Amino acid sequence: MDIDEDTIDLRSDTVTTPSDEMREAARDAEVGDDVYRDDPTVNELERRAAEAVGTEAALYVPSGTMANQIAVHVHTEPGQELLLERESHVYRWELAGASNLSGLQTRTIDAGERCVPSPDAVAEGLVSEDLHRPGTGLLSLENTHNFRGGTAIPVDGIAAAAEAARDADVPVHLDGARVFNAAVALGVDASELVAPVDSVTFCLSKGLGAPVGSILAGDEEFVEEARRVRKLFGGGMRQAGIIAAPGLLALENVDRLAEDHANAERLAAGLDAVDGVDAPAPDTNIVVAHTEDAGIPAADLVEACKAAGVGCVEFDEHTTRFTTHLDVDADDVAVAVDRIGDAVAELSG
Ligand SMILES: *Cc1c(COP(=O)(O)O)cnc(C)c1O
Repeated sequence: MDIDEDTIDLRSDTVTTPSDEMREAARDAEVGDDVYRDDPTVNELERRAAEAVGTEAALYVPSGTMANQIAVHVHTEPGQELLLERESHVYRWELAGASNLSGLQTRTIDAGERCVPSPDAVAEGLVSEDLHRPGTGLLSLENTHNFRGGTAIPVDGIAAAAEAARDADVPVHLDGARVFNAAVALGVDASELVAPVDSVTFCLSKGLGAPVGSILAGDEEFVEEARRVRKLFGGGMRQAGIIAAPGLLALENVDRLAEDHANAERLAAGLDAVDGVDAPAPDTNIVVAHTEDAGIPAADLVEACKAAGVGCVEFDEHTTRFTTHLDVDADDVAVAVDRIGDAVAELSG
């Protein structure tokens, strides 16, 4: 959709544009050929990113989707099963990459409202290898959980699910596209959320505000293999310091995610007060608004919001997602609530 200047764009936290400081950092970045590991800015970003999540090593990749798909590929063999939660991004929104790129069969867990698979659900979903069955190659978890409205899964939830898999010698990947949102909301260090798993994805290009890029992190051996698979998937980049430099600045934006969470809370409270809208208080920066009771389809609400000057996305038949980010402040949120309220009134009337 074309976004005009007055629109308050809450479609995603990916819509932020780089700050002047980021643009200057890009211009001035020291660069080299990163496929030869000669780019000092990328090397520094990978070092600092590993530090931020408490892993031995990290790899800079073009997108969160590529990070997840590299992890899936590294941890598994073709013909195995990938166990994951049924509303997860890896399952729903990555073009069946697990089968397409890694030859896997998926098996899903129904993990309920908050999408934390219980250890029992994980144990039940694991398949051991025998004459007839392929064996589970990987368990993939997600935190924060996008589809469930940015829910922040506590350390013990991740740890218990991961332990159930590791008891069966199955490795665990965490799709932590917004893992720093989870850490800030829970008041823990991101490394605590990552400690129970074998690898983690996080996005620099979402709430942290970088123009491009994600990180895939894990131990040295994992990252070495991930580097080969990144090349296989066409993600080996050359003078990537140009885009890694803003990524380094993005890592400094972790603490300010709390502002996005406060704005999301304001937004949800404002929307929930609108007749016909049910918008539960969010854990982080994602607000989901349900309009089933008012009989308003999400597609209609998205169109009406667009006409009223608010960007949002359809999540489900009667569920619409609004995401706060560093290009919107509390005043924008107040204006957005008014505009969305008008849009809902028009559709209800
Ligand atoms: C955005 C997102 C991704 C994918 O990131 P891209 O950079 O858009 O490819 C993966 N997982 C989750 C949970 C996400 O929200």
